[in-house]
Amino acid sequence: MEDQLRSIETEALEAVEKAQDKEAIEGVKVRFLGRKGVLTSILKGLGKLPREERPRIGKLANEVKVQIERAIKARLKILEKTAGPRLIKGFDPTLPGRSLPLGHSHPITQILDEVCSVFERLGFSAAQGPEIELDFYNFEALNIPPDHPARDMQDTFYVDDKVLLRTHTSPIQVRTMELMKPPIRIIAPGKVYRCDSDITHTPMFHQVEGLMVDEHVSFAHLKGILTHFAQEIFHKDTKVRFRPSFFPFTEPSAEIDIQCVICKGDGCRVCSQTGWLEVLGAGLVHPQVFRHVGIDPEKYSGFAFGLGIERIAMLKYGINDIRLFYDNDMRFLDQF
Ligand SMILES: [Zn+2]
Repeated sequence: MEDQLRSIETEALEAVEKAQDKEAIEGVKVRFLGRKGVLTSILKGLGKLPREERPRIGKLANEVKVQIERAIKARLKILEKTAGPRLIKGFDPTLPGRSLPLGHSHPITQILDEVCSVFERLGFSAAQGPEIELDFYNFEALNIPPDHPARDMQDTFYVDDKVLLRTHTSPIQVRTMELMKPPIRIIAPGKVYRCDSDITHTPMFHQVEGLMVDEHVSFAHLKGILTHFAQEIFHKDTKVRFRPSFFPFTEPSAEIDIQCVICKGDGCRVCSQTGWLEVLGAGLVHPQVFRHVGIDPEKYSGFAFGLGIERIAMLKYGINDIRLFYDNDMRFLDQF
């Protein structure tokens, strides 16, 4: 009987030592000290022993019980201290936390910054102006009087007879020429508004316009700078062509095409089989515009150009619906 008790003690203490969590400890407790436990049944059988044996064995059994209880208590304390939180099922505090998603600029902002930086490296500085603009700056000063048919080229949001949402960033150029004397080298980036919405138009979009005014500025300067721009933004071997065009505020005017970025000039759906994509409008500043802002067109000449940022982004990334930029779908935006 004595040996049996000793071996129970050893076995129980070993089991306690091995237990890795609260549940295992509970199991050991039930197995040895529970109502149907090993030790309990020995204590119950004390009555069958010879009378003179009982006190000694009884005392020993109690000692073993106390030993086991003490070991269990100590083990629980250690478990709580070291791996305490591990006892909560499915939660491991030692795992690294979930990282917060890191954002990035909107694709339009990225292209806008890229376009501006090309011109800034050429010595152009960015100018700002109001988005709610006077009719005078948006149209009249740009050689578009009230009854001019060119007003139909842009569907304008009017606030009232004299106030509107700017349809291009050209008013910034006019305001700059009013304030500065040549030489002038600015770009005018910003939001513009036109009453138009389909897969290639949104009521609000972004433009960057540029203006250079000095003595002896010629079409050759315009050509060199815009060719350099197209090759910086698209590819260093991008072919560029200038087509005669019309704008009321420039004379002569040109539209600038780049060789189709999709088919490399062979003709495809994107370029309507022409092999070319229109990316810019430009020209030499009309003398009438200079007169409106008090610059002598006999002494000074200049060129101006404008481009749509959304269009550049669509061509650069092969996007066929402009509205994707403004749907705020993270699956789309995360790709940039
Ligand atoms: Zn093509």
